[in-house]
This record gives sequence, C-alpha cells and structure tokens, in this order.
Amino acid sequence: MNIYIAPFNDFKKGEIEFLKSSLSKIFGSVKVLPKLKVPQSAYNFFRRQYNASLLLENLPIFKDGITLGITSLDIYADNLNFIFGLAEIKGKRALISTYRLDPTFYGESFDKDLYYLRIIKEALHEIGHVLGLPHCENKTCVMSFSNSIFEVDRKSPFYCENCLKKLNIF
Ligand SMILES: [Zn+2]
Ligand SMILES: [Zn+2]
Repeated sequence: MNIYIAPFNDFKKGEIEFLKSSLSKIFGSVKVLPKLKVPQSAYNFFRRQYNASLLLENLPIFKDGITLGITSLDIYADNLNFIFGLAEIKGKRALISTYRLDPTFYGESFDKDLYYLRIIKEALHEIGHVLGLPHCENKTCVMSFSNSIFEVDRKSPFYCENCLKKLNIF
C-alpha cells in the first residue's frame, strides 16, 4: 500500500522525514508530495482556527493509496473545540495537525521524542479510520479516541490485537 504525505506548511523540526521513515516501516511505500497551499476559505476568523474538513477536501486522491495531510495549523471540526486529526472512514484521505502535539504548546520544553511519538500515534489513528477501523475501547490502542493530550500519551503507537485482526493487511 502507498501512503502519500501531503504537507500543508513548512515543517522545520524533521516531522516529515520522521513520518516518512516510520510509516514506510509499517506500510511499505511512502512518498512525500510538494507543499500544498492552505485554502483561505478554511480559516475561521471567529475561532481563529482552520476548518479540518475543508483542508481534508483539498488533499489529492490517489487510486493506489492513502493521502495523509499534515498541517501545523490549529484545526477544528463543527462540534469540537479542536481536533488532532480527521479522516474519511473507508475513504482515501486523512489529516493530522501537529499544533497541539508539540510539548511547547502546553508550556513545556521541546521534547523531540515525545513530539514524534504523538505524531506517529495520530497518523496511525487517522490512517486506521481510512482503512475502516472505528474507535477502539481499549485505551492503550492507537485507535482509542483522544480528546486531550493525556489520552494521546496514554495510548501505544500501534493497533491492538482486535484492530489488527480487523485491518487484515499486516
Ligand atoms: Zn478517531
Ligand atoms: Zn484497538
């Protein structure tokens, strides 16, 4: 399976290289696309955030794989204050935001290992949705729902046995 990484912004902390190498260990072929333009219409002036669905809709579709958009912008979905990511369930595209994964967002000092670990967890979570996985009740499974950074940190960076069985691609 191919994964196409589509960056919406400049990433200067090695995020893209890290995602490329870790995802290729799991899924095989990973390609990085040229930087995408953020559509003006995605910005919500009242919320000072970006509409995740609009960014997701702007990702290219590939017949032979999944597109994973990555942005450093703060993204939201209709009924939520913010989201870490969004995906088309059983679709072709997913999106993650690094904005609230960076420890400096929480006033902590930068910790590359922790930051990268959170990025891969969110990437695997959203890719899991694209592959048809629903949220998992196992709090340590990467498919468990996370609405806070505590929940992100609690889960492991991989699919539980049950989710793996459903995935059936490994
Ligand atoms: Zn989810
Ligand atoms: Zn699971």
